Amino acid sequence: MSPRVALLLALAAPACVVPPDLARARQESKAARAAFAPDPEERAGLLEFVGAIHVHTELSHDSDGTPEEIASAARHARLDFVALTDHFTRKITRQLSGVRRGVLFIPGAEISRRGGSILALGLREWFQPRGLDWDEVASEVEARGGIPFLGHLEHYPAERGPGRFRGAGIVNLHAALREGLEGWGSVAFVLSVVGWQFGSWTGLRYLPLVRRQDAVVETWDRLAQERPFAAFAESDAHAKLGWGPVLLDPYDAVFRLVRTHLLSPAREERALLDSLAAGRGFVAFDALADARGFRFRGRAGEHLAFLGETLPFGPDARLEVSVPAAGKVVFYRDGVFVAQVAGPEVVLPVSRPGVWRVEVWLQVWGTDRLWIFSNPIRVVPVEPAPPAAGP
Ligand SMILES: [Zn+2]
Repeated sequence: MSPRVALLLALAAPACVVPPDLARARQESKAARAAFAPDPEERAGLLEFVGAIHVHTELSHDSDGTPEEIASAARHARLDFVALTDHFTRKITRQLSGVRRGVLFIPGAEISRRGGSILALGLREWFQPRGLDWDEVASEVEARGGIPFLGHLEHYPAERGPGRFRGAGIVNLHAALREGLEGWGSVAFVLSVVGWQFGSWTGLRYLPLVRRQDAVVETWDRLAQERPFAAFAESDAHAKLGWGPVLLDPYDAVFRLVRTHLLSPAREERALLDSLAAGRGFVAFDALADARGFRFRGRAGEHLAFLGETLPFGPDARLEVSVPAAGKVVFYRDGVFVAQVAGPEVVLPVSRPGVWRVEVWLQVWGTDRLWIFSNPIRVVPVEPAPPAAGP
């Protein structure tokens, strides 16, 4: 074997062999779903749907993806929905919507703004955005029945606060790929990404992209403290980024890597977008292990709060987390680390009000990797009862 081939195989090997720690997590996740009994969410009429948000098609200048190609990749990746976000031109009126190959397509646009971007989901019309500031664009989107979110949070001037936006991506795969391709690490990065060619799909070929984008998470935490502000995953799929003859971001792989899970009464455009805006969901790197069934709830006295909801603070207030595999459950309050507890079932007493959220980390080859990022539950102080009216 030539040294070059040996080096290639050595770098590609992690992408072809499932490490024992991850294999165990996958087994647990499968068993958890097989044993799945109706949970409080389901009894409240909320079902789990998995999808990709921020997807470009041939209607964008930087993508050649046809509707047929995207629909079949989404079906293959077992997605329930795909939220399209072509660059904002008059062509967006030609976007796919409704069910194709068993996948629900939600139209929308990506409107560029000083290096950053606005994701207008559910928008079907074009308007002239030139000369409008961030919030004016958001109002125009709302006036046309769309919901404005932020993309590429790394370029957003966070000092202006959440404005009229309902949430933002906490991970953007396109930005992560571009970062990976910069500098000296790029050769090893590309080799590990193309390593899948030597083996079957193990979900690990994109392991270098399975990571927490710390600066983006920090910005998101700041915005979410001001008012309810949802988190989701941006696939930012173009199926266009390559290195020589190698396509680094095929739809199929991107759709399996990181997804947004939503709890919604129905797989219908308006219901899903409302759930997304309400933060009734979580982000998961499902390429590690299937995260369906992850739940995060708050309880205090009679009150029960689901993902994205508000819980009145009380002496018995607690947070419950149920994970489909035994990962490390990490709690944050207002963006600050509070506790780390081993899963899969965790109950944490709530010490004080704040914006509480959870991350779950899994070990892969002995190294912790971010697996799940939940939307928060807001624990709010209870107003003291007004004094009884005098006689
Ligand atoms: Zn984009």
